[in-house]
Amino acid sequence: AKLRVGLLFGGCSGEHEVSIRSAQAIARGLSDPANADRYELAPVYIQKDGRWLAGESAIHVLSAGVPLKLGSSDAPADPSGETSALQAPTVAAVERWQSTAQVSGVDVWFPVLHGPNGEDGTVQGMLTLMQAPFVGSGVLGSALGMDKIAMKMAFAQAGLPQVGYKVVRRSQVYSNPCIFPKLCDEIEAELGYPCFVKPANLGSSVGIAKARTRAQLEAALDSAASYDRRLIVEAAAPSPRELECAVLGNDHPQASVVGEITYSSDFYDYETKYTEGLADLHIPANLPEAIARQIQDMSIRAFEAVDAAGLARVDFFYCESTGEVFINEINTMPGFTATSMYPMLWAASGVPFPELVNRLVKLALEER
Ligand code: ATP
Ligand code: MG
Ligand code: MG
Ligand code: MG
Repeated sequence: AKLRVGLLFGGCSGEHEVSIRSAQAIARGLSDPANADRYELAPVYIQKDGRWLAGESAIHVLSAGVPLKLGSSDAPADPSGETSALQAPTVAAVERWQSTAQVSGVDVWFPVLHGPNGEDGTVQGMLTLMQAPFVGSGVLGSALGMDKIAMKMAFAQAGLPQVGYKVVRRSQVYSNPCIFPKLCDEIEAELGYPCFVKPANLGSSVGIAKARTRAQLEAALDSAASYDRRLIVEAAAPSPRELECAVLGNDHPQASVVGEITYSSDFYDYETKYTEGLADLHIPANLPEAIARQIQDMSIRAFEAVDAAGLARVDFFYCESTGEVFINEINTMPGFTATSMYPMLWAASGVPFPELVNRLVKLALEER
């Protein structure tokens, strides 16, 4: 009998649209001739307002590739009656969703959700509570991978080299006019310019700014604080080459070849990430053997440091002038479109897209 894969996508996050595109690619991978005898698909779409849609409406979004307008009734009527709109995590919603899941007979979930409310342990907690197997990291790995402050603490404990940073709370930015100038003085003294200001829990460079002056620092802190209660300010890695490595596995994770991203914008911001033609991927990156091996080794250590599972993409800064490699971050549900770095790194490492999604589902079903 075929395994029924619940493809969970969309989500209450700034990365909603990216998730739809990742889900489209994964759906194609699961229905590839190599997998068609193994899997059947049950898409479940989470709207931006947290409502859950299964059945025809979810299939509609998946094939259209664009979000459903909130509160709209432009989804086709569901003759099977399987469509259900559910409120996000209340007890009643969990019960209703659980029965939806049981009705649709999902054997394993593939939560292809990026960013908060999906990549951060929330959905993983719900699936764990339901005793449902799912692709990717569990609650701890997801939460540590999403929160840049907790992530940096785990990396430091594992002895992974990182740029200097400072933790900032929203209350230091907003509420006290005496604290704010002192905070900026401290950042200038400890980190200097340029520095990067980031919300602790986000992705796709949303809310991230590079500051070169006091005025830019103040504006960047103000803006980042609108996204998150906790912020992080980092010293800029000097003229870094941006390298990424893909990890696959559970207790014996493997690292892919190393890839590089180049672009001509100031840094790898949202626009550069998602505008066709602004960034180039180089796979494998043109690197000395020893650097590539060091990055693969650090990727596995980072994966283990946050207790990731299944998959992760680990991002690095390589400063050629000094030979230093800094770990930037881990992403436990990296972009998964057909042209995303994660699947492309595995394709170049001998694991084509359909085989990659097959392995991920197998890993989800492994005893852990
Ligand atoms: P993702 O989409 O990979 O989840 P993210 O939102 O978590 O991204 P980061 O990877 O932390 O954000 O930073 C985004 C980009 O900003 C980096 O790829 C890099 O171009 C630039 N950047 C961030 N921090 C630094 C730093 N300390 N030094 C130099 N460049 C940086
Ligand atoms: Mg990230
Ligand atoms: Mg991310
Ligand atoms: Mg990144």
